[in-house]
Amino acid sequence: MTNESGKYVVRTFGCQMNEHDSERIAGLLETDGLERAENESDADVVVLNTCCIRENADNKLYGTLGHLKTWKDAKDGRRIVVAGCLSQKDRGGVRDRAPWVDVVMGTHNVHRATELLAQARSNGPVTEILDEAVIDDHALFPSALPVRRETSWNAWVTIQIGCDNTCAYCIVPAVRGKEVSRPTADIVAEVGSLAANGVTEVTLLGQNVNSYGRDLAVAERRETGEGSVAPRFAELLRAVGSVPGIRRVRYTSPHPKDMRTDVLAAMAETEVVCEHLHYPLQSGSDRVLALMHRGYTAERYLERLAEARRLMPDLAVTTDIIVGFPGETDDDFVRTLEVAAEADFDSTYTFIFSPREGTEAATMVDRFVDPAVVADRFERLRTVVERSALLRHQARVGRIEEIVVEGVSKRDPGVTTGRTRQNKLVHFRTDRVLRPGTYATAEITRGAPHYLEGRLVEVIADATHKVRIPVASIG
Ligand code: SAM
Ligand code: SF4
Repeated sequence: MTNESGKYVVRTFGCQMNEHDSERIAGLLETDGLERAENESDADVVVLNTCCIRENADNKLYGTLGHLKTWKDAKDGRRIVVAGCLSQKDRGGVRDRAPWVDVVMGTHNVHRATELLAQARSNGPVTEILDEAVIDDHALFPSALPVRRETSWNAWVTIQIGCDNTCAYCIVPAVRGKEVSRPTADIVAEVGSLAANGVTEVTLLGQNVNSYGRDLAVAERRETGEGSVAPRFAELLRAVGSVPGIRRVRYTSPHPKDMRTDVLAAMAETEVVCEHLHYPLQSGSDRVLALMHRGYTAERYLERLAEARRLMPDLAVTTDIIVGFPGETDDDFVRTLEVAAEADFDSTYTFIFSPREGTEAATMVDRFVDPAVVADRFERLRTVVERSALLRHQARVGRIEEIVVEGVSKRDPGVTTGRTRQNKLVHFRTDRVLRPGTYATAEITRGAPHYLEGRLVEVIADATHKVRIPVASIG
């Protein structure tokens, strides 16, 4: 504890991992005495938690830092912290481009946020980027730090950090380090304590969840000389799914090369695991998949998907696709369209390839695809996916679905929004005030490409979470 006073805001760029790290940074700052501010004008400390997966994230950060210089100059004592993947990647570069930043810290330093802030207050600007996580430190996993959760009926739980894969386009292994699994007992204990505070839904987070536990198994075998070295994600799903009070379990992201039948069976057999699989395809062309080093073919991807649907007939499937990977020809792209049509996705996150310095794909400059061609491919893919999404959504009309209420629409206060087990938004009209986190059923009345509409049938369980999840540390 360094005992700060004043107010803070945390701005997050990027993925769920980053949002989860932000919750931890906020939790640490609050434990240290800072209060949350609504916006920068009220704040004394601004933390930018950065992402570097795609290029526009960098541009956004440096643009924001430009505005923050004026903010900082307007009042004495204001401080700026830049955390996350971009500081890990750019290291001293952040300070070179924005010398008015007080703390630059990397992805392995989340637990040091308050000390670094205090250091900057007494001794001036500080940069601390650890090359890798400190393995024997319980603070290694962001979930083990104090937390300030944004929503409180659902929670992210980190099960694994880093990534041992070598996807040619991806900067994650360079900025998040090697794969380390968190012990199952710690994860189950955290989920138990979340449930005791009224959390009913958890999302397990890792870059390659299918390999969860392999490192733990290998270490155990080295020590005892026996036991299987198979990954333990299926067991983890079953263990988390049996924690009393937990009604929904989700996870992201699996890797198609490591997806195994035991995981699909655990999903199908564990009632609280939602019927939703986020299953990143990246490309439908075997040639491009090989260039990307993804380790599977389109055929294998589709076979596993068919198996998943056999075990879970009502499964919703979403994916990530990269358009314009270096050397992607029109024939390659047509394969992506064909595989996307065959996979019959509920939605996709489509990314335009963005060269990330330090990755293999960034060196394939002579094969970069013309941006106009990429934009055209992006639109063609959108059309294919919206068609399957619309048909899949229309097929749900007339069904009664379980939803968890997320809140009232900002645009129309007469409309409440909930989320189904398949992760679909349902908008419905009601005069009842339903607290976020309430479970209800709704009849689906209309399907659109990106959401459903419905009518409230009945409330099945009131929200039970405490308004503010207390700061908790498991260690
Ligand atoms: N570990 C996950 C996996 O293997 O699917 C994904 C992690 S990454 C944070 C999320 C998505 O960003 C990837 O699935 C990929 O589609 C996209 N992505 C990563 N690097 C990219 C790049 N250089 N250009 C465009 N999209 C990229
Ligand atoms: Fe990146 Fe591939 Fe690891 Fe996912 S599996 S984080 S895309 S290297």
